[in-house]
Amino acid sequence: MDTTHSTSNHFIKNIVSDDLANGRVEQIITRFPPEPNGYLHIGHAKSICLNFELADEFGGRTHLRMDDTNPSKEDVEYVESIKEDVRWLGFEWDGYFYASDFFEQMYACAELLIRKNLAYVCDLNAEQIRETRGTLTEPGQESPYRNRSIEENADLFRRMRAGEFADGEKVLRAKIDMGSPNINLRDPVIYRIAHVEHHNTGNQWCIYPMYGYAHPLEDAFEGVTHSICTLEFEDQRPLYDWVIEHCETPAKPKQYEFARLNMTNTVMSKRKLKKLVDEAVVDGWDDPRMPTISGLRRRGFTAEAIRNFVREIGVAKSNSTVDARMLEHFIREDLKLKAPRTMAVVRPLKVVITNYPEGQVEWLTAENNSENPELGERQIPFSREIYIEQDDFMENPPNKYFRLFPGNEVRLKHAYFIVCQEVIKNDTGEVVELRCKYDPLTKSGSGFNERKVKGTIHWVDAAQAVPAEFRMYEPLILDEQHEEGETFLDHINSNSLEILHGYVEPNMANVQVQDKFQFFRHGYFNVDSKHTTNERKVFNLVVSLKSSFDATK
Ligand code: ATP
Ligand code: MG
Repeated sequence: MDTTHSTSNHFIKNIVSDDLANGRVEQIITRFPPEPNGYLHIGHAKSICLNFELADEFGGRTHLRMDDTNPSKEDVEYVESIKEDVRWLGFEWDGYFYASDFFEQMYACAELLIRKNLAYVCDLNAEQIRETRGTLTEPGQESPYRNRSIEENADLFRRMRAGEFADGEKVLRAKIDMGSPNINLRDPVIYRIAHVEHHNTGNQWCIYPMYGYAHPLEDAFEGVTHSICTLEFEDQRPLYDWVIEHCETPAKPKQYEFARLNMTNTVMSKRKLKKLVDEAVVDGWDDPRMPTISGLRRRGFTAEAIRNFVREIGVAKSNSTVDARMLEHFIREDLKLKAPRTMAVVRPLKVVITNYPEGQVEWLTAENNSENPELGERQIPFSREIYIEQDDFMENPPNKYFRLFPGNEVRLKHAYFIVCQEVIKNDTGEVVELRCKYDPLTKSGSGFNERKVKGTIHWVDAAQAVPAEFRMYEPLILDEQHEEGETFLDHINSNSLEILHGYVEPNMANVQVQDKFQFFRHGYFNVDSKHTTNERKVFNLVVSLKSSFDATK
């Protein structure tokens, strides 16, 4: 697969090149500005890579900014998780800011707008403001408070800050144009009253700036040159430019929009993801089924795979939806040579090898990754009792079933041929044990070629295998047409998690959390960081071995 897209051109790179060439900027500064109201998700990874890699390529700088202007939804837990996730993705910021660092300067800019008669205090409530805003085809109506004097506005705004008014009683609005075809320019609210404690500024403020006003100022105060956001902010750009112009900031940042990442079977909004957490559909923001960076990490995705994925999807000007299986393609590619390949039995069925001497154990040598000799070899014990996969036996098999059935011979991976001779069942008729014979001449690596078998199955030694828990995942969200009145919560896949109990090879006794393996025939697995202890090994299925999706198309 071609992963050189990172160095290929996209429209934002062209803009940056031009800006540097014609001297609009000397050095570019980008920023990643999450609101700390949730954990970052794979969509954010796209924005992170874009901002950091762009600055890197052009010798610039990137800031991490917590866009914390909405204190009722924000929390330091989110702030910390965001920093951890950006670093884990492989990026280090050149400057770290909070929007709240600039509250005083933003307030001063608002006073400046009032003095220039470009902002006014409005007593309409939120509903009245909405009702008088007009529509796409009709202009809005001017507020009866629009023509307050500069002195009155200055006085009221000071008193808003001083806490004299209740939440919602007054707002500060930019005085732009109620007839503008762009609704964002119809006297947008730029400050609101909210008597809530802020995780950074405590109770210092009871008025908070609105996104459309705050964001351009944050960019300007930090010296950001290229403010890259997603397409839904395109309509906000005229307001962005208006704020920069009229607040007379020395720096003149510019906003550019690109298409956000959407993925099949995935909800990608912190608000919705929070709902999954709050309603206990998942066991936290880092549940391995979540598309959060922390969930993907716990599932077993690597930063490298995520970076390669977002590079491959590229930077576009129009929205589209990416097949979630494409991300899986990149983790397979990344782990193919890195992950040791070993045997795990997820639904065990005991096999007794009746002609194998009781008490005897032999150690078989197996390579850890047949495609990467650097990963070395290991020893696997083999003795009279082993576990195989329940699926690898059928009492009455259909045609072309090449695994174990009465009378049939198969190869045990890295070991011997065995033939099934007897099936033991319990009272309810379930198969609980198989009796087999092995042929000592067929040892793996011995060059035996007198008989061929069609099936190779995996196994673990019953006496020495390590018990393990396997967490098998399916997409959390089913991609279906939504009926009227339904939300994404009506499309939760009730089979998204299946917990199985089986065994891994004895050399897995000392695995560390986040270690990754390929379990022969099952897929890639990651040692779970939340539930694994010395006594309990929990493996998350990262991805199965094959997918029907061809990412090269
Ligand atoms: P959410 O709805 O998940 O809260 P948001 O856009 O409100 O998303 P922010 O924390 O404000 O989240 O976003 C920080 C940055 O990440 C913004 O520049 C935003 O444009 C970008 N971003 C968010 N979601 C995506 C996405 N799906 N694809 C690309 N970029 C995204
Ligand atoms: Mg948001």
